[in-house]
Amino acid sequence: MPSVLIDADHYLDFLYYTRFRDWSVKQMFRFHGVLYKWRHRTDIYALEAFHTAEFLLAFLAVGLYYKSEPLLLAFAGFMFHMTLDLYRMNQWKRISARALSFVEYIVCRKKMIQRGFNPESTFNAAYELVKSREIPANPSPETPRTEIEKLSISSTLPA
Ligand SMILES: [Zn+2]
Repeated sequence: MPSVLIDADHYLDFLYYTRFRDWSVKQMFRFHGVLYKWRHRTDIYALEAFHTAEFLLAFLAVGLYYKSEPLLLAFAGFMFHMTLDLYRMNQWKRISARALSFVEYIVCRKKMIQRGFNPESTFNAAYELVKSREIPANPSPETPRTEIEKLSISSTLPA
């Protein structure tokens, strides 16, 4: 369970890139769907707040300080999750696509901007794409009713 909770930061960065104007969970899944399709692109450099050394070490410190078994178990879950994430990203040959710490992100982002590329632009482009598809095309009058129903059912699903 905690292993999945760590990915809640995917919602945080979605909110960040929508300037906190779009809180739709469905759009969040679409946004990350676009990024997933783009995973082989070399212009992706991400920061996921909970997937950083700073967050994980702070979490561990709190767990140790309170000698809290649930927190320490959650930490073990996070580390397991990190291992799987990194293993997968390594398979895509994109292990550098996500910063492992806030400090790394700040330093690398600064260097990238000096070279004329802002890593945030890729994410802004992904959100623009999601936004432009926000209003689905009106089904044509010929569309059988079941098709319309299917559309409305699928739009209530989270993913
Ligand atoms: Zn993850």
